[in-house]
Amino acid sequence: MKNLSVETLCVQGGYEPENGETRIVPIYQSTTYKYDSADEVGDLFDLVKEGHMYSRISNPTLDVFEKKLALLEGGIGAVSTSSGQAANLLAILTLCKNGDHIIAFNNLYGGTFVLIQSRLKDFGIETTFVSLDDTDEEIESHIKENTKLIFGETLSNPSVRVFDIERYADLAHRHGIPLIVDNTFPTPYLCRPFDFGADIVTHSTTKYLDGHATSVGGIIVDSGKFDWNNGNFPCLTDEDPNYHGLSYTKAFGEAAYITKARVVFIRDLGTTLSPFNAFLTNLGAETLALRMDRHSENALTIAKHLQASPNVAWVKYPLLEDNEDYELAKKYLSKGASGIISFGVKGGVEEGKKFIDSLELASLVVHVGDIRTHVLHPASMTHRQLSKEAQEAAGIEENAIRLSVGIENADEIIADLDQALEKSQR
Ligand SMILES: *Cc1c(COP(=O)(O)O)cnc(C)c1O
Repeated sequence: MKNLSVETLCVQGGYEPENGETRIVPIYQSTTYKYDSADEVGDLFDLVKEGHMYSRISNPTLDVFEKKLALLEGGIGAVSTSSGQAANLLAILTLCKNGDHIIAFNNLYGGTFVLIQSRLKDFGIETTFVSLDDTDEEIESHIKENTKLIFGETLSNPSVRVFDIERYADLAHRHGIPLIVDNTFPTPYLCRPFDFGADIVTHSTTKYLDGHATSVGGIIVDSGKFDWNNGNFPCLTDEDPNYHGLSYTKAFGEAAYITKARVVFIRDLGTTLSPFNAFLTNLGAETLALRMDRHSENALTIAKHLQASPNVAWVKYPLLEDNEDYELAKKYLSKGASGIISFGVKGGVEEGKKFIDSLELASLVVHVGDIRTHVLHPASMTHRQLSKEAQEAAGIEENAIRLSVGIENADEIIADLDQALEKSQR
């Protein structure tokens, strides 16, 4: 299936039933698998043989979903996780331990920012936060002997800044470290970060990949292209006493990273996706291409409409011609920029709240990226645990509304936004 288009892979990727097998991916609701001999199970434990052993580590329904995402992103393998948070945590832990250092951008999703700033710090992993405004020299000046990776978001939540993947991949590679990008907002339908040099991609599959707001989940995809044998990653090249002295690079070659993510971190931390959630997310992903086209089309129409509204102070959407990232958006998001718009209601926080409370079709939910239109006020909700300075650095203005444009009729969404904007100014 490798050479098929994204549209076809969304529908059929990852599952090729044999004669007489179910056409739809079955839900393998089983924790365990039966074997005929003790030696066979021993071989599974030693990673000498491939196979399912216990559903904390792998499961055939998850396997289909993981194969689909690897195909969609153009990677060599993927590991699903119980949430997007778990995906980002494991993506980093697979390369870092106590005493290591990473570089991360300061405009990340609030949950990821706090995870990196506080939890990883508690684990002894230090982070230097850098900004999209920094020069390459400024960023490079923070790279030290123990720096293991650079982490960014393709399209940031909620400030919708576009990440110059090629630039930061080159920068990372000059220093022998990989670039990890969280590709949640574009999805592989709108942008494939590996095509621009990124090494590892993560997703909160909770958002557009599921698309229907049914299942929390995440995934890590490996491009298989990074050379771990450059001396900077003894965690992948050296012998692991937990597996009788196995070296991941020697045993698994280009799949060293993604194999370790599963057989060490999914196994030990237990951040496993459930088969039922994998089934639902895979079902959602089957219509991803259609949905992303409609989300993007609706969002661009609505962003332009908001720009012309007397009750709106400012609008950010990457494919608006006056957006600061318009050139980058044309390069990385040429098919569309997804459904997320950030805008300010004229006035301040009070007007913003009145706007939210007056909506009828769009709802207030703590979520983004599903088929229904909804709104959220990041400063008082998803990003409320960030300091004022961190909020500013993340590009979250006090009156910013995050609008997640659904696939309903655009005129009807606009009519609802207009009436609520009107009420906000009374
Ligand atoms: C939501 C989100 C996450 C966290 O994912 P969960 O599935 O909620 O754990 C991470 N990154 C981005 C960009 C997100 O939007």
